[in-house]
Amino acid sequence: MEKEEMEKQKTKVVTKSAIRFSNFFTKIKVLANKVLFPDDIKCCFCGVDIPNFDERPYCDRCAKTLPFNVGHKCVICDQPIESEAIVCDFCQKEKRYFKKAFCPFLYEGAVKKTILAFKDNNQRYRAKAFAKIISNCLSDIKIDFVTYIPMTDKKQKKRSFNQSQLLAEEIAKILQKPVYSCFEKRRDLKAQKNLTYRQRREALVGTYTLKQVKLKKTDNVLLVDDVITTCATVGYCSGLLYPKVNNIYVCAIARETFKGKNERKDL
Ligand SMILES: [Zn+2]
Ligand SMILES: [Zn+2]
Repeated sequence: MEKEEMEKQKTKVVTKSAIRFSNFFTKIKVLANKVLFPDDIKCCFCGVDIPNFDERPYCDRCAKTLPFNVGHKCVICDQPIESEAIVCDFCQKEKRYFKKAFCPFLYEGAVKKTILAFKDNNQRYRAKAFAKIISNCLSDIKIDFVTYIPMTDKKQKKRSFNQSQLLAEEIAKILQKPVYSCFEKRRDLKAQKNLTYRQRREALVGTYTLKQVKLKKTDNVLLVDDVITTCATVGYCSGLLYPKVNNIYVCAIARETFKGKNERKDL
């Protein structure tokens, strides 16, 4: 009996030291990750150390110079408008299947540079900071789940990640809501730059499809993209979801304003 008790004590000591040992390694791992991927101590635009990432993931200097999308803008698509109008020309003429878009930045300067680095240089750690900034600008809206604009399998394999999915996952963590993959992208489109708005819209038919996802008529959805230019993609995907849910909101890191004559003529 005494021997049995001694064995028990011995096991306890071994287990305790094993736990201590594994805790020690977990701490080392967390620390190493912080050193290797210091995403929560530095300004996400210029890289200087900042005091409180969770409060604001960029520094004072960037706060003064970044192109925030805070001027007079369309109440639906968040595009800056020069006139006094409340809704832009596009949203007046096109049915919008989403209720409102939220884009904290304009797609220019340091924001454009950082987004391109995030996508093309595999800087996926930036998703956390962008998600924080986006979620801060989502006003009082009710969200039941988050979804995102997909990439084709081929492109995702090449890049190794989908930036909109990463953003959606980080935003969902902040909102404490699930992320569902609702869409599939069947083919890559040719360069869109020289296409008119109507041509862009036509090219989307059959490119994005709705997956078999369990949706409820009461669901309020947040659809995430990285940059919104014409609203053609988010508009088209919202249209696929529209008959099956309650409200669709859209968000992206930045809003690119389209000034091409082509676009205006083709309204
Ligand atoms: Zn900065
Ligand atoms: Zn608009």
